[in-house]
Amino acid sequence: MIRLHDTMTRDKRPFVPLNPQRITMYVCGPTVYGRAHIGNARPAVVFDTLARLLRHEYGEKSLVYARNVTDVDDKIIAAAEAEGVEPSVITERYERHYLEDMGALGVRPPDIAPHATKEIPQMIAMVERLIGLGHAYEAEGHVLFAVPSHDDYGELSGRDRDQMIAGARVEVAPYKRDPADFVLWKPSPAGVVGWDSPWGHGRPGWHLECSAMIERHLGETIDIHGGGLDLIFPHHENEIAQSRCSHAGAPLARFWVHNGFVDMGAEKMSKSLGNVITPADLLAQGHRGETLRLALLSAHYRQPLSWTGEVIAQAKTNLDRLYRAARDAEGGAPDASVVEALSDDLNTPLALTRLMALHDPAAIRGSAALLGLLQSSSADWFQGNADASGVEARIAERTAAKAARDFATADRIRDELRAEGVVLEDGPNGTTWRRE
Ligand SMILES: [Zn+2]
Repeated sequence: MIRLHDTMTRDKRPFVPLNPQRITMYVCGPTVYGRAHIGNARPAVVFDTLARLLRHEYGEKSLVYARNVTDVDDKIIAAAEAEGVEPSVITERYERHYLEDMGALGVRPPDIAPHATKEIPQMIAMVERLIGLGHAYEAEGHVLFAVPSHDDYGELSGRDRDQMIAGARVEVAPYKRDPADFVLWKPSPAGVVGWDSPWGHGRPGWHLECSAMIERHLGETIDIHGGGLDLIFPHHENEIAQSRCSHAGAPLARFWVHNGFVDMGAEKMSKSLGNVITPADLLAQGHRGETLRLALLSAHYRQPLSWTGEVIAQAKTNLDRLYRAARDAEGGAPDASVVEALSDDLNTPLALTRLMALHDPAAIRGSAALLGLLQSSSADWFQGNADASGVEARIAERTAAKAARDFATADRIRDELRAEGVVLEDGPNGTTWRRE
């Protein structure tokens, strides 16, 4: 029995899926205008680990995991203008980097990766519905969500009205009926990316895409909605308002799962503070993807994680010990003690302690696999000649290319790997690989 902490109810309780044959999980994904940093990588690794646990518990095909790609956004438009290129040049480049970087950390691609620019009709339809139901209104080319029309607004964050207004990032625009109202659709000036809509040429507000994608790909009420702590307000609060008001009050998610920040010293790691370290930097320094993954899992996901040299060094030491103990055993079933620790609100520090205490090589490999670790052979790990995470990253890239029906790229990656002696095998549960 898996237990999860739910931000909405502020307690930990048994996770019972609505439909165990089709468990639905949605995680807010990257805005693709720059390289992801280690703080951005934490939710990718945390929810990848949760996905592995759910598939172990309910079956490989039980889970539908969706993670969106925000590929229209003011920051993307600014980055494109700065380089003098189309926004798609920026978004395609950084989505590719994102998949490479996360693949290096052993993060499997989600089952569905909806892109905002491909979901515009669904977003427009949702806005029209909200206007028709009296939850949204048009003003000066914008469409705004009328926050006072939704009685339960603030239920996730627990903020009162004054805090919400103070927390609104944007200055209160004169066309807002209420200072807490937020943008569903905004006008795009000539020459800026946009789409025709009943309210003129424009583009969606950021919050809208997640509600529209969840409705389209997963349903009105999903089992798990995940993301970083910083998304609780306003992003997730606004997703809830949009979705519940579109769906006669149906809850958007049954469990809200949020991961804590990665800190650099006393500060949160963030682009605006300029103190970011990226997986790409760390890989270039010679750290392996698995080391970074273990370091990210070394603290409980709800706690802050201090990113220090010691955390990385400890992760490397632990992996060396595990690879030595596991030798080249075939992976067996995960040990019950490790499964139990993960089932208790994804207690990865306890799971790692128990993993380190195991002696049977097959149980070590089987248990480590549940955490996305020990994906290389021990010989390769110690010789350092087969960075499995590099192979995984390129498999992730190929899977994404296939999903986008870019078969030329998919074939090129397969051929490049074959030239390096890596053979890919496509099966019903994804792609596996072996060395010739
Ligand atoms: Zn979202």
